[in-house]
Amino acid sequence: MLLALLAACAPAPSPAPPRAGSNVQPAPPELPGVPSPLPNRVVVVGAGVSGMSAAIEVLASGADVVVLEREEDLVGGAANDASLMIFSGSSEQAASGVSDSPEQLLAEWPSFTGGDVSDAWVQRFAEENVPDVHDWLQAMGVGWNGPAEDPSAGQTARIHSIIGGGAELVTLLRAHLPDDAVWMGVEATGLAQDASGRVVGVEWRDVATGEVGELRGRGVVVATGGFGWSLEKVREVRPELADVVLTHASWEGADGNGLDMLLALGAATQNLAAVGLYSHALRCPTDATVEMPVPFQFDVPWVDLAGSRFVDETLRNDFHSAEAIVDSGGAAWMIFDAPLVPGGLDCHTDPYSFVDWGDMGAVEGDDPEGLADALGVDGAAVAAELAAYNAAVDAQGGDAWRSSMTTAWRVDEPPYYALPVAVSVAKMFGGIDVDLDGRVLRADGGTIPGLYAAGELTGMAGGSLVGDAGFTGSLSAVVLGGRVAGRHAATDRVFR
Ligand SMILES: Cc1cc2nc3c(=O)[nH]c(=O)nc-3n(C[C@H](O)[C@H](O)[C@H](O)COP(=O)(O)OP(=O)(O)OC[C@H]3O[C@@H](n4cnc5c(N)ncnc54)[C@H](O)[C@@H]3O)c2cc1C
Repeated sequence: MLLALLAACAPAPSPAPPRAGSNVQPAPPELPGVPSPLPNRVVVVGAGVSGMSAAIEVLASGADVVVLEREEDLVGGAANDASLMIFSGSSEQAASGVSDSPEQLLAEWPSFTGGDVSDAWVQRFAEENVPDVHDWLQAMGVGWNGPAEDPSAGQTARIHSIIGGGAELVTLLRAHLPDDAVWMGVEATGLAQDASGRVVGVEWRDVATGEVGELRGRGVVVATGGFGWSLEKVREVRPELADVVLTHASWEGADGNGLDMLLALGAATQNLAAVGLYSHALRCPTDATVEMPVPFQFDVPWVDLAGSRFVDETLRNDFHSAEAIVDSGGAAWMIFDAPLVPGGLDCHTDPYSFVDWGDMGAVEGDDPEGLADALGVDGAAVAAELAAYNAAVDAQGGDAWRSSMTTAWRVDEPPYYALPVAVSVAKMFGGIDVDLDGRVLRADGGTIPGLYAAGELTGMAGGSLVGDAGFTGSLSAVVLGGRVAGRHAATDRVFR
């Protein structure tokens, strides 16, 4: 990563690229030998939800903003496919008779995230998610359905589904930025520092033309998202995943380039191993990037490499079940029978069409022992598990793994099938360490002047929200972290 060290008296940097119709004024030219103040502009890298939240806050704080977005036609990044947000004490909860509060969220927080409630960012998130995220977005026109319960959001119904989905949130955020404040198709390739080490701007490259330049500002907010798409980086921070088949449940842009950029400047990280893994995807036999949640409508037993059940199967859209697969050896199968065979899935059609379970990596057996043989696991164990599971379904109570069998499907009509359940990498709950103002911290606890970070790059917000599990609806933290970083980048004193 090229880091340009700019002397205070360096010649004026090349002006900002003349993007069509830009309403952003270039920095005033510097006179040779006479340092001029940095322009009252914040440069935001990435037009995801965190970057756009930061940029809106910059404008509200009285500074100019330019957002560099390397995608040529897409703003909003991962959030275009998202929908769920977490709030504690919202108007929707009140209207539904759900009692919730910051205190209640904090009381439940360790139970579903493993997080430490003494962490300042956890406390801030609990206190500010309604006034600074929910109400702020609501004033922009965002609305929610719900609330709904989710085991990855605690015991209280606090998951809110965005009306119109994440794409609507993205549209509304974008509408609150001037048309030309977002430079599409321009990627940040490095951060520019002056002789004192202060970050004074961004080195950029136009992805279409290859043109390069530098854009200066009083502050830079890096909001480039997580690193979930890079399975190599994921395995670096979670070495125990080396032999686990991983699929993608993040988006292609989550390549971790911003993480590399900040690490090159000596930024500290927190909680990098807090990778949010899902088990809601099946591995597509022909394309590991395709996520296929459809078969999980079926509430059927899962077995591990020992042929044993190992998790509450109702947690199939939850972070805990994926970690349970990892803990029990890294592979698992869902077991089902003839009535659940509509013909298999074609993962390249939308909606998925059923074609052939065999294409999905399913194996078949005439009885539980035969199925286990085909899987290479203990036949007696699988047969015993299925017998106990079916008895629990008949009894309609709970069993060792779950409190209720009311949605469970009896599995007893041959032929039997087993379909591998893939572990998919969804999002990052650890990342660049920032202080409560969004300033990037160094390993020694000091800051890197002029440099801020937000969003999934910071593990949603602050780098240390969770312990051993992620939480549903973390977009709320992404918005909060973006606003905080934008506000401080626009208003913190510039030391020269
Ligand atoms: C399918 C799917 C479903 C999801 N569902 C939910 C959900 O329901 N609830 C929830 O809370 N979360 C959900 N998430 C996660 C959530 O969407 C993300 O955590 C969040 O949107 C991250 O926002 P961000 O702004 O930090 O990063 P991103 O959305 O990744 O945005 C980063 C932006 O920076 C740009 N960029 C990257 N590098 C550069 C560079 N060098 N120069 C310029 N631009 C750059 C990218 O192109 C991108 O636009 C989901 C994610 C996916 C993929």
